[in-house]
Amino acid sequence: MKSVRLLPGKERSLLRRHPWVFAGSVARGKADAGETVRVESHEGRFLAWGAYSAASSIRVRAWSFDEAERIDTTFFERRLARAIGLRSRLPIQSSGVRLVHGEADGLPGLVVDRYGDLLCAQFLSAGAERWKSILADQLLAATGLSRLYERSDTSARQLEDLPAQSGWLRGQGQVDGDGDTTTQISEHGWLLTLDVAQGHKTGFYLDQRDNRAAFARWLKDLGAQSVLNCYSYTGGFTVAALAAGVAEVVSVDSSAPALQRVASHVALNGFEASRNTCMDADVNATLRQYLQSGRRFDAIVLDPPKFAPTAAHAERAARAYKDINRLALMLLSPGGLLFTFSCSGGISADLFHKIVAGAGIDAGVNAAIVQRLEGACDHPTTLEFPEGEYLKGLALLKLG
Ligand code: SAH
Repeated sequence: MKSVRLLPGKERSLLRRHPWVFAGSVARGKADAGETVRVESHEGRFLAWGAYSAASSIRVRAWSFDEAERIDTTFFERRLARAIGLRSRLPIQSSGVRLVHGEADGLPGLVVDRYGDLLCAQFLSAGAERWKSILADQLLAATGLSRLYERSDTSARQLEDLPAQSGWLRGQGQVDGDGDTTTQISEHGWLLTLDVAQGHKTGFYLDQRDNRAAFARWLKDLGAQSVLNCYSYTGGFTVAALAAGVAEVVSVDSSAPALQRVASHVALNGFEASRNTCMDADVNATLRQYLQSGRRFDAIVLDPPKFAPTAAHAERAARAYKDINRLALMLLSPGGLLFTFSCSGGISADLFHKIVAGAGIDAGVNAAIVQRLEGACDHPTTLEFPEGEYLKGLALLKLG
């Protein structure tokens, strides 16, 4: 077993069971990509078993802090059983579920979403990549499913010096139609389709599930009649708004395929096509145009892509968040509802609150925070790894 020895004082975060060892903390030790290493303190004391990654600034990701634990196939079986078992105890109103959420499930670099009878996984670290084949078999055994698609085509792989990879890992061609990468889920009783091959991430934004339900409840209670769904993607919030009885929704996104799916979701759920308008446009420009034309909305969703992938981008991202929030607050009818989000890991909930507060001041609008929003519970944040928290949002009611 190879070992990685840390510099003096660099053992502190591992002792708190934080799973990352940064390159700058390592005194000596090397291994192959994804190979299991023994991480030890300057004095040689055991700290963790982890996966080595020579290319990444996160040089080791810890699998286990238990010296007696062996990192073998049964280890991964136990971790997957724990992750999947947790989901079975969560209040999830959907056939789309995140089964494995990386570090939060003790499986750094592994993301697995279940969409009905289809699994879609991302292997984002050298460690997850090394165990890919075993993990793929174990995932099928643990879920009783037969189809697993891989979407390891994110920029995170580049940091690990891993090539982008996507395609069927298991189950293609067993019976006719198995190669179909599209599927349908039911979320809160709403029908939503997705394509694991072509969609964003693994195909769908499961993390917004509870917020879509909350949005529908708020719209109903407020009797909202018009909604502007910005960065709509395939229209999860659009369907929520129509189900809540809103007369008119405008869904804005810069992706034509995503908007096609919005239109098909409106029909699939039995809503009149005329109640939704799709706009293939830039959100910022659209907000400005509506403002100029004097158009107002009873409710607005702002769910932009990650403006700040890391804290280093936070300043520029903060300006972009502030700008769209300022415009949205101005566009809201008096008493209107804003659901505003940031999925940037580099922007904390506290900073996001400050950014939106700044937007309110610039807009000359005061608003009450009526709910704080976060990722759904199958995307957990653990006590040991607060960095895992990425999605945060505010529900605001504009004050007169
Ligand atoms: N709210 C969605 C997820 C949004 S993901 C849901 O519940 O499923 C972010 C979306 O923003 C993507 O669909 C992307 O195509 C879109 N997008 C990115 N930049 C944009 C821009 N400048 N203007 C409009 N849409 C944009």
